[in-house]
Amino acid sequence: MKDLSGWGRYPRLSGPLDVAFDIGPAAAATANLPGVVARGLGRSYGDAAIGRDNTIDATGLNRMQAFDPETGILATEAGVSLAEIIATFLPRGYFPCSVPGTRFVTVGGMIASDVHGKNQHIDGTFGDHVEWLMLALPDHRVIRCSRDENAELFAATIGGMGLTGTILSAAFRLKQIETGWIRQTTHVARNLSEAVALLRQTGTATYTVAWIDVLARGDSLGRSLILEGEHATTEQLPWGDVRFPSSANGRVGVPIDMPGWMLNARTVRAFNELYYRNGARKTGQTTNVPWDSYFFPLDSIANWNRIYGRRGFVQHQCVIPVAKAESAVSEILDRISSHGAGSFLAVLKRLAPGSGLMSFPMEGLTLALDIPVSEKLMTLLTEIDALVVEAGGRMYLAKDATQSPTTFAAGYPQLDRFRQLRSEIGAKDRMASKLSERLGI
Ligand SMILES: Cc1cc2nc3c(=O)[nH]c(=O)nc-3n(C[C@H](O)[C@H](O)[C@H](O)COP(=O)(O)OP(=O)(O)OC[C@H]3O[C@@H](n4cnc5c(N)ncnc54)[C@H](O)[C@@H]3O)c2cc1C
Repeated sequence: MKDLSGWGRYPRLSGPLDVAFDIGPAAAATANLPGVVARGLGRSYGDAAIGRDNTIDATGLNRMQAFDPETGILATEAGVSLAEIIATFLPRGYFPCSVPGTRFVTVGGMIASDVHGKNQHIDGTFGDHVEWLMLALPDHRVIRCSRDENAELFAATIGGMGLTGTILSAAFRLKQIETGWIRQTTHVARNLSEAVALLRQTGTATYTVAWIDVLARGDSLGRSLILEGEHATTEQLPWGDVRFPSSANGRVGVPIDMPGWMLNARTVRAFNELYYRNGARKTGQTTNVPWDSYFFPLDSIANWNRIYGRRGFVQHQCVIPVAKAESAVSEILDRISSHGAGSFLAVLKRLAPGSGLMSFPMEGLTLALDIPVSEKLMTLLTEIDALVVEAGGRMYLAKDATQSPTTFAAGYPQLDRFRQLRSEIGAKDRMASKLSERLGI
């Protein structure tokens, strides 16, 4: 038995972990173990990567298989990490078409969650760049899925949270880049309306994201820093700068669980004030920043999830359709601010529709925030979830640990077809996680 949890360390459960070092054993475990789901690097926040009865550790599927420099298509086993892909291909001038906010994730995990990056509104999700994948089914078959072969299962597996089978390997596209630097421009929004307007205006930039101060109130509610980014060309580098800087990340860490009292409304408010003022000084400025600090700023602190103490935290990420986005986000911020448990890791972003059957993105605004676990947490989240449902939005399964089956069903209109497909391939009841049990998938 192993202790298993997601990145938020809530909930913490224990269960058997079947370590698969190769494709054959991973496929056999998928067919032979009941109530099973695959697990990558466990960077989903809640209970998605914990099997109902059994969990397959897929990180042993760690071989890169083929690369075509002409098309940029890379084939790897599903346990290969994004960190390994970047370390191997960035110095050769290639970068993934979509990356989440940490590079400690696997190819299988990125496909199963259909992860989105800061360029989703322009370039789509990771799943949009997958050419094919090999899927192990509970009936012992291993099938190839693509937009032309087993197309519906392909669409259901992208964003399907491991519930259609175990992804054994996949091929996906990398794009060519001239340097490992990002030209970052900072804009300041004094409140939510300005932030929404700026996100719209900067929408033609390849990368755009807003850090939002969730504890600001009154006229400053929703004040944000909007960070726009483009890959720097060789000409844009000062003479003497190395074209592909190696990562400086991972040098410091949080060695122990921080005491709960350290993270309270006062300390978070002080941090947010400092961060906002510091960013505001750079408004309108464009600077070159290395790829790791632009895409993965949190990766520089190992085990940063310990900052929230032993009880852990949840990440709440919703997306709200455009028409109601500003009013709903404003209401949500108001509730969080009154609750006083705001996080310093709150992010606001524009999204375009996703293409997987159960993909999270829809045309609208997504708000993601960390909230430490406390007695009052569930009451707060129930209130926020009701606002999301009322506005026609949905919650991201890769972050979820708490939503109810009704909230979930209201946000995912293709759920019935997904359930039916699971029955057709014999995955219903066989492929199951704590998340799928909780939400009745
Ligand atoms: C700091 C941080 C920042 C993040 N930023 C973003 C972001 O910007 N955008 C975003 O979209 N996400 C983001 N995430 C979430 C993260 O990208 C996803 O949760 C991703 O799925 C994690 O990959 P993993 O390998 O750790 O998968 P796990 O957490 O281990 O698993 C996630 C899901 O994938 C399934 N799965 C894993 N491997 C396989 C496989 N081989 N076959 C079938 N199913 C499989 C699991 O069953 C589970 O349902 C962030 C997470 C962190 C911690």
